[in-house]
Amino acid sequence: MSLAADKRAATTRDGDAPTSWDLDAIREDFPILQQQVHGVPLAYLDNAATSQKPTAVIDAVADFYRHDNANVHRAVHALAERATLGYEAARERVGHWINAAAASEVVFLRGTTEAINLLANGLGAGWRSGDRVVLTTMEHHANIVPWHLLRERAGIEIAVLPVTEAGELDLDALPGLLDGRTRLLALTHVSNVLGTINPVAEAVRIAHAHGVPVLVDGAQALAHQRVDVQALDCDFYAFSGHKMFGPTGIGVLYGKAERLAALPPWQGGGEMIRRVTFEKIRFADPPQRFEAGTQNFAGAIGLAAAIDYLAGLDADAMAGHEQALLRYATERLEAIPGLRIIGRAAHKAPLLSFLVDGVHAHDMGTLLDRKGVAVRTGHHCAMPLMDFYGVPATTRASLAFYNSLDEIDRLADAIDYARGVLA
Ligand code: PLP
Repeated sequence: MSLAADKRAATTRDGDAPTSWDLDAIREDFPILQQQVHGVPLAYLDNAATSQKPTAVIDAVADFYRHDNANVHRAVHALAERATLGYEAARERVGHWINAAAASEVVFLRGTTEAINLLANGLGAGWRSGDRVVLTTMEHHANIVPWHLLRERAGIEIAVLPVTEAGELDLDALPGLLDGRTRLLALTHVSNVLGTINPVAEAVRIAHAHGVPVLVDGAQALAHQRVDVQALDCDFYAFSGHKMFGPTGIGVLYGKAERLAALPPWQGGGEMIRRVTFEKIRFADPPQRFEAGTQNFAGAIGLAAAIDYLAGLDADAMAGHEQALLRYATERLEAIPGLRIIGRAAHKAPLLSFLVDGVHAHDMGTLLDRKGVAVRTGHHCAMPLMDFYGVPATTRASLAFYNSLDEIDRLADAIDYARGVLA
């Protein structure tokens, strides 16, 4: 498709299903996008760091605090009943959205980081020196550091599945890493640096054929695609509400029922027990076993509202729009002299990491900001991947379904401006 045709397909509003996408109407759902920064309209291209929230989510959280706020699973008064019902309905909503076999397979936590720490502690409690976890070169530190800590505590080994220069997993190397001591494969669904959408179902198939369970870091996936945990057949799946248009401070660890049942708790406190004496404790069943203390129930209700919002969008049109953004952005950036895109996988989420000759990424970020273009610069909490590419930092434009082709034009123009100032 030509650039112009791409631009039309992504912006058409004449109801030409399935590529119609009423971008103006969608942008109106996100109040923060209406503002100006430095005297120009905001172009928010930092969605992989955190996404913006539609009015429906903001209202759901505010309404909860206005009308229903009470601690959950504790008292029997009316507000407590309503809050508990809302919280458990949110669990049902999440379970249904990711196609969990039961809502009890959904554990509410702070986010992806906490979910992976829970697993490194809970699974790791049974691991011995020489047991192995397999990661990949493209993991976020959230899926590296907890395993480092476990290595220090228990003497486990960390093995690494390599990536190709294009930024794809080398799955052929996977069987060689899955020996009798391998206890887990933990890999990202979508790379926060490269945009690569990994063939997770295939990785799970290979790992399971070797008797190895799989944890998927889904932090970057749910903003762009529906995830079906049963179709993936993964054992665990972790994600964060704030990256999928929901509130901060709420996230999910999905686990197959039998996997969660076998997992010890990692934090102790109220509401995760059946019976406590000073001599003995009997823990509650999952998911409560992993939800010690007062939970972010308002966040869970906001996350359910984000899912309702996503469910109301045309998934095919959204995917079409995002891929049109990606193609257009790739073409525009490739045309800029001295610009190199890192991450050329065949299947990508709409995210571009790049370097520009003679311009440090941090300077680039500052100059783009002057033009109202918000991007992220740095190592993106993925230092091993930066080492692989031999670069200290990149500039990353990460797009969401509410971004426009005009914002891509503004990004490209702002990069030209930065080159003019610095190169
Ligand atoms: N995994 C990936 C791939 C990420 O991109 C991030 C955040 O950027 C995380 C994990 C950590 O997510 P959170 O900070 O919400 O726990």
